[in-house]
Parts: sequence; C-alpha cells; structure tokens
Amino acid sequence: MTRTLIIGGVAGGMSAATRLRRLDEKAEIIVFEQGEHVSYANCGLPYYLSETIDTRDALLLQTPRSLWSRFRIDVRVQHRVVSIDPAASSIQVLKLATGETTTERFDNLIISTGAKPRLPEIDGIERALTLRDVSDADKAMDALANSPKTAVILGGGFIGVELAENLAHRGVKATIVQRGSQLLGGFDPEMIEPMHQSLETNGVSLVFGAQADSIGESTVTLSNGATLEADIVFVAAGVVPDVWLAREGGVAVGATGGIKVDDQQRTNFDNIYAVGDAVEKHGMLSGEATLIPLANLANRHGRLVADVIAGVATAAKPSVGTAIVGAFGMVAAMTGMSQVAARNAGFDAESVHLHPGSHAGYYPGAKRVSLKLTFEKSSGRILGAQGIGEDGVDKRIDVIATAMAGGLTVDDLMDLELAYAPAYGSAKDAINQAGYVANNVRAGRTSVIHANELEQSMHPVIDVRTASENAAASIPGSVLIPVDELRDRIEQVRDLAAKTGKVVVHCAVGQRGHTASQILAGMGVKALNLSGGYTTWALAQAAAARG
Ligand code: FAD
Repeated sequence: MTRTLIIGGVAGGMSAATRLRRLDEKAEIIVFEQGEHVSYANCGLPYYLSETIDTRDALLLQTPRSLWSRFRIDVRVQHRVVSIDPAASSIQVLKLATGETTTERFDNLIISTGAKPRLPEIDGIERALTLRDVSDADKAMDALANSPKTAVILGGGFIGVELAENLAHRGVKATIVQRGSQLLGGFDPEMIEPMHQSLETNGVSLVFGAQADSIGESTVTLSNGATLEADIVFVAAGVVPDVWLAREGGVAVGATGGIKVDDQQRTNFDNIYAVGDAVEKHGMLSGEATLIPLANLANRHGRLVADVIAGVATAAKPSVGTAIVGAFGMVAAMTGMSQVAARNAGFDAESVHLHPGSHAGYYPGAKRVSLKLTFEKSSGRILGAQGIGEDGVDKRIDVIATAMAGGLTVDDLMDLELAYAPAYGSAKDAINQAGYVANNVRAGRTSVIHANELEQSMHPVIDVRTASENAAASIPGSVLIPVDELRDRIEQVRDLAAKTGKVVVHCAVGQRGHTASQILAGMGVKALNLSGGYTTWALAQAAAARG
C-alpha cells in the first residue's frame, strides 16, 4: 500500500486526494492542513463579506468527516508541516492544538501550500485585513460588524475589485489605491476603462499612481501626500507563492518565486510533486515559466498528479491564463496576453477592437460586448483576447480560450458554428466578427490604426458617422463626411489625404469605418480605419487621463 501525504487541503491538495482515491482504493492518503478548514471556497470569500453568500457553512464544501466517509481520506486540520526531509522521504508535522511534533514517512508527497498575500512593509500594516482563508473572512466579518463607513483597499487586482463591490453592498464606501495607472494590470488600459467608470459610478473611489506610506488608527497616508479616511483597511496587493517549506527542504524554486516542476508536476525530487499557486506554470505562448495563481490550474494539476502517482500516462499542457472578474454588473475577462504584454514579449502582435451586441440588437436587452483580439500578424496565431461588458463576455472569452487550446488561428474564428437564437447571440456572433476583422487585417484588405497611435500619425481624421452622432461627441480636429457622402465628396477627401498621403476614417465602433476605408481604397485613397472607432478612442483617452 502506497502512502501519499499532501500538504495543503484546499484546491490543489484536495483535488489530488480525491482523484487518487478514485483511482486507487487501497492507497493511504493523508492531508495536512494548518488551518481549521479544508476544501473551503476561497473564491467565494469576498461574496460572504457582503452576505451575497449568506451562510459561512456554504463556504465549507467538505469537512474532514465527510472526506473520510466518502473517500477514506485522513484529513488532519490544524496540522502544520514544518519541514520536509527528501532524503528520508519524511515530513515533520506540528499539531497546533498540542504543540506535539511527529514524523511522517511518505512514498509520495504533494505540496499544495498556495500563495500568501503580498504585504507592503509600512507602519501600521498589522491593522490591515487580508483575504486568503476562512479565518481571514471571520476577522473581516468581525470588523464589518462595527459598521465601518469607509474602507481603503491597497491594490486593484481581482480581489481588490471584488472587495470594493462587496463592501459597497455592506454600505462601506471604498477607495482603491493602486500604484500604476489602471486596475487589473493584465488588461490593456482602454479595455479596463469601463470597469473604472463602473466602479466610480457605483461610489468606489480610485486613486492611481500612489501607494500607502502608513496606516493609522482611522486613516491611510499615501505616498502622494493625501490622507484617506479608513475605518477599515484591506491589503489586496497580489500574492506570492508560499514556498518557504519547500525551499528549506531543498525543493527547487524558480526565478519567478514558484516551485519548479516538470510537465508531470514533479519537483527536483522524484517522489515530491507540487501544484497550485505555489508552483510555476509553463506559459503556452511565451514558453517560459510564469505564475498564474488561479483555481482552474490548481484543480487541474492536482488531479493530474494523482494520475501520475496512480500510473496513468499523462502530462500537463502549457497554461494560457484565463481569468474573469465582475463588479456591479460590469464583467471583464481575458485569456492569453494583452497587446502590451504580447509586444513586450517580442511578438509581431496586432489587435482588432470591436463592440458588437451580446445578442441580436433587435431582441430586447442586448448589451455591448467590447472585445479586443490580439494575434500574431504573420501566422494568425491567437495571442489573447480581452472582453468587457455587462453580458456575454464570459462566453466569448471562453470560446477564444478554447480556440487557443486547440491551436486555431484568427481566421478559423470566422468559421466557428456557434449557438444562435436572437436572445442568445447573433447569426454572425461576436467571435465570428472578430475573425472577420482580423482576417481582413491579415489579408491586407483593411489597415487599422489604434487610438494611441492617432496623434503621432498626423493623418487627417474623417468622421464617417452621421451629423447628429458627430455633434454629440467627436475627435478634436476631425472632419465630418458621413459614409454615404464619401463618393460625392471624394475631392475633399483627396485634399485631406494629400497632407500625409493617408486619411484615418472612424465611425462609432469600426464597422462603417471599414466600409468607408473600402470605398476610399476603391477610389485610390489610402485610408486607415480607427480600430474600435470613437468608442475605443474615447476609452483610450479616458484611460490615458488617469496616468
Ligand atoms: P490554496 O487553495 O490557497 O490552499 C493552500 C492551503 O495550504 C491553505 O489552506 C494553507 O493553510 C495550507 N498550507 C500552507 N502551508 C501549509 C503547511 N506548512 N502545512 C499545512 N498546511 C499548509 N481563482 C480563480 O480562478 N477565480 C477566482 O474567482 C478566485 N477568487 C479568489 C478569491 C480569493 C479571496 C482568493 C484568496 C483566491 C481566489 N482565487 C481565485 C485563487 C484560487 O483560490 C487559488 O488559485 C487556489 O485556491 C489555489 O489552490 P492551492 O491549492 O494552490 O492553494
């Protein structure tokens, strides 16, 4: 009978434990968890604070007793593993209730110790709350029981945004303080701007380009000299792999700070595996080691390790990184790389923006889905996609994540047969449309220019929308020539194009702009279509103003 010990009893650890039992009824499986709970829903913690998840028990998906009854897994909570001895294939375990230490031998060891919040070294940091586990949530609930009016959240990543929304539901006015010039740094700035605007509309204040210098009794002092009221303070400034135990045991840790593993999640020791937030992932696009602290990968790799231990032939596929976050009904999701990340990684990356409806426009309730598809220009390989809007964002990003996993190109997106009825999609779905636009760009049928390139280009800008759209809001210096008048006013267009050899055309979202650029091309005028039209331009302007 093999003896598998597992350190950490949540996403990665418990996935490994239960899968191993399903594959091997005889294996001895012991899980050590330093906290009071196993298999808790850490992703649900922010929603428990607002009582959207209205009972604490709902967060506790399993108990040691339920895991024993169904799986015969020996789960020992409040047991901290304090050292690993790879040479002896043993670990030392501290029983927190009694202070007693025991040595446990293993045939296989799985490390799934997760990640811990990154804490800035500032005065008063001990006053700040974090949100990693159920005991953190208990502390936050105690603080909320005192009916705080104001909160400062240090850090504007996924957890910071979720906290802001859930605190608002408890009547707490939150300010997010973020070092950079945008929240959710994985997104391109113009793509995340609708989230900024939605948070502000719903009463959340955003402070960019600053960090906390100190935390006082009821204030936070910032590096820009400002002092913010803060009845409570949360730190949500990212996470770092929790690897001290592995490192001290001689388990190799990579340059990213995560445990190094091969494609079977094996560390530098043959019988020691590691999974989850504590480990490095193999990036599908970059081919490099990277950190992706997300639940899907922890669960998936936990299951995979059990397969490896049980002798099932398998290997981990590289990770693309797919994530989603929502607040106040605004949803932002992405897969793969942003354009900024793709270009920084050296890809010949091009992007297209589009703003189709979540479903057919004539059927009530359609919402705008803003999509950005980033691809390698030469090959059409999909490098990433970002989406933001109030409906239908998750579906589009998941389809593109699936396309990436299957090695499809942007051209293949044109031919995907996706479910359609007026209430659920469009006959030409947003995904197909993204494929059409990208294909036109790749084939050279249309040339795009991006909002952040416009000013430098010096090309005259023609607004091809209607006069009333132009009167409502327009790009400074642009000339109004509605698309239907282009042919009749071609001499005026030629005069404009004579200045730099090209004109830029734009409409509201890029669609009429494409038609306009094709009309002009047919008449011998070189025209660049502004990607995503006025909508993307306005978002890019608003995003730039925050920097
Ligand atoms: P964890 O689930 O963190 O488990 C690690 C466990 O190991 C902990 O319980 C810890 O106590 C225990 N441990 C550590 N050291 C020892 C030791 N020496 N001895 C014994 N036990 C030890 N991901 C998403 O994809 N989507 C989301 O919406 C999302 N929301 C999140 C919201 C919050 C508030 C948090 C905190 C995380 C969220 N995540 C989300 C991330 C996701 O929860 C993690 O990616 C996932 O839980 C990682 O699994 P893991 O097994 O690596 O680590």
